[in-house]
Amino acid sequence: MRIRGAVLDHHDRPRPFASSRPIGVYDLELDEPGPTEVLVRIEAAGVCHSDLSVVDGNRVRPLPMLLGHEAAGIVAAVGDEVDDLAVGDRVVMSFLPRCERCAACARGGQLPCTEGTRANTAGELLHHPGRLSRDGERVRHHLGVSGFATHAVIDQASVVPVGRDVPPEVAALLGCAVLTGGGAVLNVADPAPEDDLMVVGLGGVGMAALLTAAAIGVRRLVAVDRLPAKLTAARELGATETYTPEQLAAQGIQARYVIECAGHPAAFETAFLATAAGGTTVTVGLPAPSATVTLSPLTLTAQARTVVGSYLGSAVPARDIPRYEQMWRAGRLPVEKLISARIGLDDLNEAMDQLADGAAVRQVIVFDPPTEAR
Ligand SMILES: [Zn+2]
Ligand SMILES: [Zn+2]
Repeated sequence: MRIRGAVLDHHDRPRPFASSRPIGVYDLELDEPGPTEVLVRIEAAGVCHSDLSVVDGNRVRPLPMLLGHEAAGIVAAVGDEVDDLAVGDRVVMSFLPRCERCAACARGGQLPCTEGTRANTAGELLHHPGRLSRDGERVRHHLGVSGFATHAVIDQASVVPVGRDVPPEVAALLGCAVLTGGGAVLNVADPAPEDDLMVVGLGGVGMAALLTAAAIGVRRLVAVDRLPAKLTAARELGATETYTPEQLAAQGIQARYVIECAGHPAAFETAFLATAAGGTTVTVGLPAPSATVTLSPLTLTAQARTVVGSYLGSAVPARDIPRYEQMWRAGRLPVEKLISARIGLDDLNEAMDQLADGAAVRQVIVFDPPTEAR
């Protein structure tokens, strides 16, 4: 079928992307779903730092690629071997498919699936090289999702159904920002209400970590970011104290659990320094592959400190998304508060600039429903 989608053709274009325009919107060909795949009509897709990392070249991926890995929509067709999804279901797309056969999958969410990671790196679907093309030229999938389009074909392992009462923008954010930030809190730190928790880096993932920590009743909740506007927003999401990194260092503020969500070595160092003796630094950010930091091994030993890395919040999407759905439905996890702008497919270059400037929490592309569904 013919679809409309946003394709990245260049990862070496200079800022501002609004002028250099590495992303273009095209008519594309999308093949029918295979036996284990589903066709989804996309309703909403969030713009995430992991998209920007491909645009700015920090994550080198094969191009051209149809970006977008945080999305939700309605199932429009299912393959022959798909039996637990039906046409009309609302689904959250999840960017790390799990084969449930490899050694990594056997360890729960602690390790990313080996086969899913291979497919993601190659720009393929879990069980197929790809269903997208532009004038006969192959277009790669982004993280098994490619949500910046009117429709997607995606493996059944990359979707999780949610109730029709969950708005599409909320459903989209469950798939990356909430799964990652929420998972860092629930799956990794797992604080008690009397523990204190700090979040360093307040993008969509960091803000989702704050929301989740507030939802489970963590009483002292510290938020850290370079931008004062982010600190103001964090207060509205439940932060009880807010600091710039400079204020944090000058005042020696620490917490038992510190979650780094910025994906920058300076943010990791800030998070490590702000972790109390006996505490845990959790890092979920994705810095450039060449980035390094200097740590004191003596601090680790003498202060009985833990540093733990977590990909996608150590999530098992099929287990965790229903949990966040329930928290949202109970009014404890107001995910809609993370949305800072609603945009169209044609606005993506400008959206990447906003993200690179740190000015946005979550910009969400909202697609018009087809006329027959209105
Ligand atoms: Zn993401
Ligand atoms: Zn696996």
